[in-house]
Amino acid sequence: MITRIDHLGIAVRSIDEAIPYYEAVLGLKCEGREEVESQKVKTAFFAAGEVHIELLEPTSDDSPIAKFLEKNGPGIHHIAFATDDIVGQLGQAKEQGTRLIHEVPFEGAGDKLVAFLHPKSTFGVLTEFCQSKH
Ligand code: ZN
Repeated sequence: MITRIDHLGIAVRSIDEAIPYYEAVLGLKCEGREEVESQKVKTAFFAAGEVHIELLEPTSDDSPIAKFLEKNGPGIHHIAFATDDIVGQLGQAKEQGTRLIHEVPFEGAGDKLVAFLHPKSTFGVLTEFCQSKH
């Protein structure tokens, strides 16, 4: 079951350049920074109430985020829904004909299991499911 929107992923060219906007202009607190090597990104998380902002900066030219930036420039990259059963959630999406980018969840930032649905199947919104590993 989806329980809430967990975070919005935002692609940036430089986390260091973007952080002052989130901290000084919006007054949000950076909760942590982390590199996700499998996705070739650096991340920084901010809390805005229950919802978080995840800044994503590519660490390599063949990072999915580098490709996104090349095509679209900086901006909203994905929306992430928290689920209490990521495997079941993916299975249900697949059963209903949704194209999955990841059939099997992998380790994302923030000690979570994550998997993505393809935007061609989700009306243009790259959609992430995430589940805390507890
Ligand atoms: Zn995310």
